[in-house]
Amino acid sequence: MNVMSPETTHRPGRNAKPLTPVVITIDGPAGTGKSTVAHRLASRLGLEFLDTGAMYRAAALIAIEQQIDPGDGPALAAALRDARLHFDWTASPPRTMLDERDVTRRIRQLDVSGVVSLVAARPEVRRVMVDQQRDIARRHPRLVTEGRDQGSVVFPDAPVRFFLHAEVSVRARRRVAQLVEAGQTDIDEQRVIRDIQQRDELDATRTDGPLVRPAGAVDIDTGSRTIEEVVTVMEGIAREQLPDAGFES
Ligand code: C5P
Repeated sequence: MNVMSPETTHRPGRNAKPLTPVVITIDGPAGTGKSTVAHRLASRLGLEFLDTGAMYRAAALIAIEQQIDPGDGPALAAALRDARLHFDWTASPPRTMLDERDVTRRIRQLDVSGVVSLVAARPEVRRVMVDQQRDIARRHPRLVTEGRDQGSVVFPDAPVRFFLHAEVSVRARRRVAQLVEAGQTDIDEQRVIRDIQQRDELDATRTDGPLVRPAGAVDIDTGSRTIEEVVTVMEGIAREQLPDAGFES
């Protein structure tokens, strides 16, 4: 993965004092609002935002387009190493790129959602991704990162770690709204629910990097609050736990 960004983090337009690294992790199952919450939290605190689900989705798109069996870990890992999967950090949220192609919208379609958990279950794929995510954090050291294993496996020492959860029905409703917003018209709600349940099952039962609540993570129920309320709760916790992190005020 190529990561286009400066190697040090300064707050532009303010004093040039380098800020201390800070990684905040957000894990949870599909449809808990992780991406939206993570992006808004990052904006409020003046941090960058990493969507690791987008990386696994891009890997699934590579499998579809190159007709690689989603269960063939070594072939997938080799294709991933060859692919120029990267983010365009000049956009907010960052755009997901394969070579020069912006795949941000394409990777949200149902064919990709249908195979992504199979691809993500391959240990060879996860190893490549975990290395790339740690590399990104070295280059973008002030980061809110979200996924399934960020607080448990990739950044277990992150000073603030959250775990989001919500009822399946709430999560399915959110997913449908996202698909509508992304311009899809032929949405089968029952298929969306089945897709979420299947991905939950695959994500929770895989041997490598399963979806778990990281020990010591702060639990947040996103079903009973609006997204803004969730972000406000998390922002308060981050500011309280890291008073010297130099967050945006
Ligand atoms: O978050 P999103 O639904 O876009 O993630 C797509 C899929 O990528 C998940 O269902 C999961 O299988 C996989 N994933 C993962 N580990 C992560 C992020 C996503 O296995 N850190």
